[in-house]
Amino acid sequence: MKKLENKVVLVTGGSRGIGAATVRRLAAEGAHVAFTYTRSPEKANALVAEVNATGGRTIAIGADSAKAGDIINAVNKTVAEFGGLDVLVNNAGIYIGKDFNEHTIEEYDQVMTVNVKAVYVAALEAVKHLKAGGRIITIGSNMADNAIGPQTTLYTMSKSALQGFTRGLARDLGPKGISVTLVQPGPTETDMNPAEGAHADHARSRMALANYGKAEDVAGLISYLASDEARQITGSWVTIDGGFNA
Ligand code: NDP
Repeated sequence: MKKLENKVVLVTGGSRGIGAATVRRLAAEGAHVAFTYTRSPEKANALVAEVNATGGRTIAIGADSAKAGDIINAVNKTVAEFGGLDVLVNNAGIYIGKDFNEHTIEEYDQVMTVNVKAVYVAALEAVKHLKAGGRIITIGSNMADNAIGPQTTLYTMSKSALQGFTRGLARDLGPKGISVTLVQPGPTETDMNPAEGAHADHARSRMALANYGKAEDVAGLISYLASDEARQITGSWVTIDGGFNA
């Protein structure tokens, strides 16, 4: 029997990057995986075709994490399609980095809505369906513990909020046997953070290991946290950053 056989999973922001690698990995472990997307329907459809062609069960749901109603619909569509929900992976996130005095209130709303409020809304809806053994796994950032440098205030603030969310919700859901964990990646090669991007060499110079992480590395950690083996881990986080914060 596969590690996540017949577990029902919802991954937010699964069309690209860490989310797409997570969809592939969890489906390969036997899970039935729904994932959301907004701007990349072609990539979402291609991922569904790829996973289902290799025996997986995956669906893509157009749902904007900036809209609470979309998130609630995504949870309910997942339950309707697969008959329940065992694991919520809050992955969708956005980055806006610029000098603090150039930030706008609109940018605050954008980042905090997708990176924080959407996580809260998804959890609120998911707990109506999660049972003992259920998991809420959220993707934060190593920057929650190390702001790295200037121009990071808004993003760092949003990812730090997820630590409080994880601690508090672990206490709320522990009595129901549901665990709540946070994965904090460091530089990981995706569209958000290309390994040859403008800040990549600086990032590498701060890491204990010389290379950017791969989305698959993060997906492997998520797969472990979703599994029965991780049942004793809750209210805490794992940083996967090549030693950036060491
Ligand atoms: P990418 O930008 O490469 O991919 C983001 C994914 O999220 C896409 O599938 C995108 O879908 C989706 N998404 C973005 N906004 C929304 C939205 N409003 N509603 C629904 N889906 C949305 O990012 P990464 O894969 O790099 O990042 C994934 C997570 O990991 C984020 O939370 C990020 O903050 C975190 N992270 C990443 C690091 C890195 O170095 N890459 C380091 C630390 C943390 P679509 O294209 O369809 O809109």
